[in-house]
Amino acid sequence: MSGEQQVGKALVDEWAWDATDNPVPRFVDVAIIGGGIIGCSVAYFLARQNLAVAVFEKGRIAGEQSGRNWGWVRQQGRSPVELPLMMRSLELWQQLSNDLREDFGFTQGGCLYLAENAAQFDELSQWMAVAREHGLDTRLLSTRELGGVLLGDVGKWAGALYTASDARAEPSRAVPAIARGARRAGAHIISHCAVRGIETAAGRARAVVTEKGVVAAQSVVCAGGAWTRLFCRSLGITVPQLTVLNTVARVAPCQALLEGAAWSPSIAIRRRADGGYTIAHGGSSRHSLTPDTFRFATQFWPALRLGHDSLRLGIGGDFFSALAMPSRWDLDGPSPFERTRVLGPAPETRVLRQMRTALQQWFPEIANAAFVETWGGMIETSPDVLPIITQADRPAGFYIATGFSGHGFGIGPGAGRLVADLVTGKASHSEVGAFRLSRFFDGTPIRPGPAI
Ligand SMILES: Cc1cc2nc3c(=O)[nH]c(=O)nc-3n(C[C@H](O)[C@H](O)[C@H](O)COP(=O)(O)OP(=O)(O)OC[C@H]3O[C@@H](n4cnc5c(N)ncnc54)[C@H](O)[C@@H]3O)c2cc1C
Repeated sequence: MSGEQQVGKALVDEWAWDATDNPVPRFVDVAIIGGGIIGCSVAYFLARQNLAVAVFEKGRIAGEQSGRNWGWVRQQGRSPVELPLMMRSLELWQQLSNDLREDFGFTQGGCLYLAENAAQFDELSQWMAVAREHGLDTRLLSTRELGGVLLGDVGKWAGALYTASDARAEPSRAVPAIARGARRAGAHIISHCAVRGIETAAGRARAVVTEKGVVAAQSVVCAGGAWTRLFCRSLGITVPQLTVLNTVARVAPCQALLEGAAWSPSIAIRRRADGGYTIAHGGSSRHSLTPDTFRFATQFWPALRLGHDSLRLGIGGDFFSALAMPSRWDLDGPSPFERTRVLGPAPETRVLRQMRTALQQWFPEIANAAFVETWGGMIETSPDVLPIITQADRPAGFYIATGFSGHGFGIGPGAGRLVADLVTGKASHSEVGAFRLSRFFDGTPIRPGPAI
């Protein structure tokens, strides 16, 4: 393991786009908080409708979840609630890969869920009903058929669920490419510029207060990822949200085993555009207990119970730093968002070791490839593991897009398009109803969808 333990700075920085010195407008139609895939996609679709838009990012474009994720663009395994949005998102990925004139590794290389035993194969086969209902090209593969899409010794697998149209893309290149596309369409993209809060008049959002000045706006979209809970709390809006740490590694170019991505409970691998792989444990995430864990215990209890196999709970410094976090602050001084420019947690050494062992067992062909880079990513989750795409009751003109729960990269363009439609009044109730924030408070049963 020695020499392998390093935070993935280069990965995110390599393609980072410095939008720090871009001028800050005084007035926009829509101000967007957060330069992840959601904020940048909202900006892209609004700017193409000739609206004046600005994205404010406290750190780097795609510096947090959107640049640190596994790069899976999958329909397979999703909850039927979000699957139609994901299918539209895949079409948008295809369009973006043509329209943005940048190569960000978008490839429809397929998605495999591998069964380590017969019981897992039975469990995977249940998703076929969802696939059929939505007309997806998903198939159940026997061990023999698996050999057609996965090279190496496939005899150890009991079979697989496979969707050939599923895709992959390089996160740290795709999101800056979308941001640049938004800018070409007229959007302002400003990094290193935290939004401290908003100004209201007569119950309506009228401006965002940024560290570089006040920007008047008719509408404000909060796409702040893991920070959304804190931002909304300062406005008196409760967004139930917790975070989990996921550990990821990259190996340099090595033997080609598949074109897309493969997951099993022990290991997840995704072919990279450079011929290497992005690798993670198939089911090991850590949630550090914070006061919010207890505040939202009722809403999150079903998800915590379902995820007990793969979720480890811990208590440490995070509890006390969250406890010390203010819920309101003066808008004329630095806010908590300026104190942490980029949430880039260290990867867990024990998980990296488990990944190495799992590679030796399940993918020995690439097991000796060195982890040339390792990193952690803080995933934000909602209680039912589904997005929150909503217009706030108060202030009017304030919208929230968060809760993508570990699978927001693939659905990002679709969600961005939906948020843009919500802001311009084009989204129908049937499109956004299931994603409304109030579902967590109005007695709707909380039934967590699958996390992977
Ligand atoms: C390790 C890991 C693996 C994952 N794998 C996959 C995958 O394979 N496929 C998939 O579909 N999804 C995956 N996901 C999930 C996916 O990455 C996220 O759901 C998605 O990126 C969320 O995008 P976002 O724009 O909402 O949030 P983020 O990308 O987190 O962006 C939010 C941005 O808002 C900024 N911000 C917050 N507050 C403020 C403020 N007040 N002012 C200015 N800026 C602010 C933050 O700095 C941040 O850059 C994974 C996530 C992780 C961490």
